[in-house]
Amino acid sequence: MSFFKRARIRYILHRHAIPHAYWLNCTENLPLLQGLTAVEKAHLRELASLFLVEKNIVAVQDLLVTDSMRVMIASQACLPVLALGFDCLSGWTDIIVYPDAFRVNRDIVDSAGVLHHQENILSGECWSSGPVILSWADIVQDQKTGHTGRNVIIHEIAHKLDGLNGHANGCPPLHYHMSVPQWTAELTAAYETLIQQVQEHNNSCINPYAATNPAEFFAVVSEYFFSSPALLEQHFPGVYRQLQLYYRQDPIRCCSLKERN
Ligand code: ZN
Repeated sequence: MSFFKRARIRYILHRHAIPHAYWLNCTENLPLLQGLTAVEKAHLRELASLFLVEKNIVAVQDLLVTDSMRVMIASQACLPVLALGFDCLSGWTDIIVYPDAFRVNRDIVDSAGVLHHQENILSGECWSSGPVILSWADIVQDQKTGHTGRNVIIHEIAHKLDGLNGHANGCPPLHYHMSVPQWTAELTAAYETLIQQVQEHNNSCINPYAATNPAEFFAVVSEYFFSSPALLEQHFPGVYRQLQLYYRQDPIRCCSLKERN
């Protein structure tokens, strides 16, 4: 990191750090953060402070985004990059927050060249090099349900990380000590198992939306990794291990620490 960049970060943290008491008030009930150590929480507060200076959180329709909502969004958006660094969130600026799930209309041409009109109701969306779009009602619901494997903020940030090496395809830029063939083998095996479960109309072991394509699989398993790590490790231990190597975090350890406290 250059001298000027370090100086800018120091300046932001000196002038714009989220006040500690306010941070505690906004984050003490967020299930995702409860297992973090004091050092990790302090680092997350720094990242969230940078996030709130560098990113533009914009409310649409009749939603009013309060400071506590901004801290809730920033803290969860920064959790995946806690050990990766803030630079992984570069290349985009805006977070657009809808009051509720939002309607998206698209025209899609299939492999046979036929045009289809699609209308979807989404809780979140992420444009490559563009904004992250979130539904506030879904963010709140994720907090209420706790550890269920659902977190729309983590999901969209995972897409952003996935797209850092070009386009989101389920394989973000891996660290030098990680093996691309191993990553591909573990995630592909789990993805194919999930597709089989969905096709056979079994109860799928994780959210069946993960079977949509490899990019959605990575985003969904990232949600589980942070919000329901034991369940992910139970069904797909190889995927858990790869995500542990990629995110450089071990949420299962966090959960056991939380239970001990
Ligand atoms: Zn997605």
